[in-house]
Amino acid sequence: MPFAKLGLSQDVLEGVAAMGYVEPTPIQAHGIPVMMDGRDMIGSAQTGTGKTAAFALPILTKLEESAPGPRALILEPTRELAAQVETACRDMARFTKLRVGVVYGGVGYGPQNDALKRGVDVLVATPGRLLDHIERGNCRLDRVGFLVLDEADRMLDMGFLPDVRRIIRKCPSKRQTALFSATIPYQIDNLIKWAMNSPEVIEVGKRRSPAETVRHALYPVATSQKNELLLALLQKLEYESVIIFCRTKHGADQVSNLLKKSNHPVAVLHSNRTQKEREQALTGFRKGRFEVLVATDIASRGLDILDVTHVINYDVPQHPEDYVHRIGRTGRAQAEGDALTLMTVEDVSHVRAIEGFIGREIDRTRLPDFAYSYTTLLDSSLGAPGQRRKRARGGRLGRGFSYAPGR
Ligand code: AMP
Repeated sequence: MPFAKLGLSQDVLEGVAAMGYVEPTPIQAHGIPVMMDGRDMIGSAQTGTGKTAAFALPILTKLEESAPGPRALILEPTRELAAQVETACRDMARFTKLRVGVVYGGVGYGPQNDALKRGVDVLVATPGRLLDHIERGNCRLDRVGFLVLDEADRMLDMGFLPDVRRIIRKCPSKRQTALFSATIPYQIDNLIKWAMNSPEVIEVGKRRSPAETVRHALYPVATSQKNELLLALLQKLEYESVIIFCRTKHGADQVSNLLKKSNHPVAVLHSNRTQKEREQALTGFRKGRFEVLVATDIASRGLDILDVTHVINYDVPQHPEDYVHRIGRTGRAQAEGDALTLMTVEDVSHVRAIEGFIGREIDRTRLPDFAYSYTTLLDSSLGAPGQRRKRARGGRLGRGFSYAPGR
């Protein structure tokens, strides 16, 4: 079904064409008719599937003309996502007269106050800052006819659900609500029952399944050699852009210093950085000024960074869900990508949990010509199913390591 058959307005269709979208993605093909019909919708789709346009295009069509507002409210869990969704909505609305605005914390109130005073039709917001604006009398929600709760599971993780409920109470009960969430834990289920009206559930792709276009590889290594292996991998990989994930902010700073010393153009993203530093890091990375972005899990959800060819997990994530979100940064919109994970002895149980979660084994791999220090991981299966299988087939451990890094 082409975009032109989905009932979208001419102005919005022109925006779609200007964005270079030719065919709707599955979440768009299924979700846009539901939204156009005025029904509530729950969207469950892998990251990078085009869910922003699935809710934004019908909303922009239905708002038609600019009027006192906001009349559409989109809640996002992080500042980065809010900024990203605002940009996407602005782009899609460029041939309409609709005004798109954004409010999030970590920056001054001045420009946000001014924008709210001038008036916005579509407001993208993080919950805390939005409540601040409401308390200060800068913003009312009594005209909101469209409410989008994006990345609801992430809002739950971050403890925002009470704020979200407070915000929903300030919206008219007669409205259309869309909720997007990769998983539906019971707290989200309760929210759905309370805030939504017989929603249509649209599930695109299997839940919990990582992007299928991504190649996964585990690199067993001694803890003392992680830095060395990382540098060797970066040298060997033919990457255009790579995100390196670390468990802690301190760890991210250390890895970024290591890479700077080796002359890699690198940016860092974690929550101890100021909002300005975070924006500079993201913009610089998006524009290619930095080839490497070192980040904590703050960057792993929902951020739309195009053309990330490689994700390297310097640290194995402790929650299997985070693995899926991290690797979702590559392989977006059908592009192929590689996800490489350094694995030490301490990571064995977390790796098993990830493999259980994604329902597949990840190949154990060695970087050719790297002078490995001894670790039991290299010569014992240690619960590594891929190794057991290869040993049975190939006779000796190591032979089966066929993965060639680079693309
Ligand atoms: P999202 O899941 O909304 O973050 O979108 C992921 C990426 O896919 C973004 O870069 C979008 O610009 C892009 N995208 C969304 N819809 C389409 C489409 N129909 N055709 C091509 N790219 C799209």
